[in-house]
Amino acid sequence: MIGNNKDKHFLILEKGEKIMASLVEHAKMNGIDGAEVTGIGAINQVEIGVYHLENKQYEKKHFGAEVFELISMDGNISLKENTPFPHIHASLGRENFSVLGGHMFEAEVFVTCEICVTPTSGVPIRNYCEAIGLHLIDREG
Ligand code: ZN
Repeated sequence: MIGNNKDKHFLILEKGEKIMASLVEHAKMNGIDGAEVTGIGAINQVEIGVYHLENKQYEKKHFGAEVFELISMDGNISLKENTPFPHIHASLGRENFSVLGGHMFEAEVFVTCEICVTPTSGVPIRNYCEAIGLHLIDREG
């Protein structure tokens, strides 16, 4: 179910839906080129990573069946190569109440996921930065 008003969009995802793919689809359907994104819920099939600047590679880790509380999902949507691109970080809670987290590549909703997408007034644009090895938001944009 997707609901929204003119200032904020509530994106309510159900069990089995993919978070990152849903964010891209929602942004495309609603013409959102820039936004702040926050969310909470419960998820599994999580793939997160940490970036190593020395080799310009993400170290990725996939957690299959383990279910996490999505304590906090925080990030943004910008334009990368003319397509909405979500950049999301997440804090994940385990059954023993410990927390891990990282840069989110994808995750599946296990119970629900309540995401708030707040469009920005400007359009943040990502360009490739050779020195960093990533598409960074253009500060002049
Ligand atoms: Zn990141």
